[in-house]
Amino acid sequence: MNTLDAVVPVYNEIEILPELHRRLTGVLEGLPLEWRVIYVNDGSVDGSTARLDAYADADPRVVIVHLARNFGQQAAIAAGLSQTDADAVILLDGDLQDPPEVIPELLETWKAGHDVVYAVKRKRKEALPKRALFSLFYLILGKLSSLEIPANAGNFSLMDRRVVDTINAMPEHNRYVSGLRAYVGGSQTGVEFEREARYAGQPRQSPLKLFRMAIDAFVSYSEVPLRLATVMGFVVSGMAFLVLLNVLWQKLVSGEAILGWASVMTSVLFIGGIQLIAIGMIGEYIGRIYTETKHRPNWIVDRSRNLDSEPTAARAGRATGVKEVAPPG
Ligand code: UDP
Ligand code: MG
Repeated sequence: MNTLDAVVPVYNEIEILPELHRRLTGVLEGLPLEWRVIYVNDGSVDGSTARLDAYADADPRVVIVHLARNFGQQAAIAAGLSQTDADAVILLDGDLQDPPEVIPELLETWKAGHDVVYAVKRKRKEALPKRALFSLFYLILGKLSSLEIPANAGNFSLMDRRVVDTINAMPEHNRYVSGLRAYVGGSQTGVEFEREARYAGQPRQSPLKLFRMAIDAFVSYSEVPLRLATVMGFVVSGMAFLVLLNVLWQKLVSGEAILGWASVMTSVLFIGGIQLIAIGMIGEYIGRIYTETKHRPNWIVDRSRNLDSEPTAARAGRATGVKEVAPPG
């Protein structure tokens, strides 16, 4: 019989947890397989912690991984993925925007022989500016990255064991799961679904967190921004050359005096701006190299429930697939 693990990141979702737990376990109960739910408590401070523990007390199939503080949604997901051992792993948000009722369809598609089945939002139930920004994000990402990252497929997906193992073995620190998932390849397909509005409360992902995630996605999956600096360098040099020709022509041929101040200022400012942009881009990459070289864990587990064997790599949060962490010194 197949096994299924559902990974759910949870950050201050006390208003939603009862409904989420009821609907999710209800759907799983109806499936002809052994299942577990792995809630990753990403440093909640609103009573979610105690509520999750209560669910774990009531049902041994409910696993809780309590992180030591708020590490962010992507780290929480990675922490959850590292604890799975099922044949198929479902990833879904804990705010009921990803309706658990879609899971059977994801499962059927997986059984038909696909490695990754992502749930594609048919219609976003978010305010227009946010929707527009998301569309822009996927547009830029699609243009920048050589990797085909499906638009409008967020975290909500089913992944085969093989895919999850591969993702877990990726050592990088900046983890944008939708990107890693696409990177693995294999047979990937989408299933459309109606994305619901958040069940209660405000998004836990602040605009700043989303913005950071977007930059992460761009920089992790593309070298184009770096190359852009070179391209802009060429363009500006080309323009400077044309200006030079013009200056020479005025001096030698037309003999007019040059009223140069405005044009000089414009080009100086323009080139200055381009240089700053280029340096900023390089900075983004160097910052990431710096983060990676520190080899800090992506997350730290405080404690867990209903998890008998804890993979060491998961506890120390690097998801390298390495089973032993060398003692310090
Ligand atoms: N989340 C998390 N850590 C965070 C922020 C969010 O684990 O720092 C969880 C949150 O509890 C929810 C999911 O990630 O289950 C999606 O968050 P949210 O709905 O705020 O994001 P959005 O819908 O804007 O992507
Ligand atoms: Mg949400």
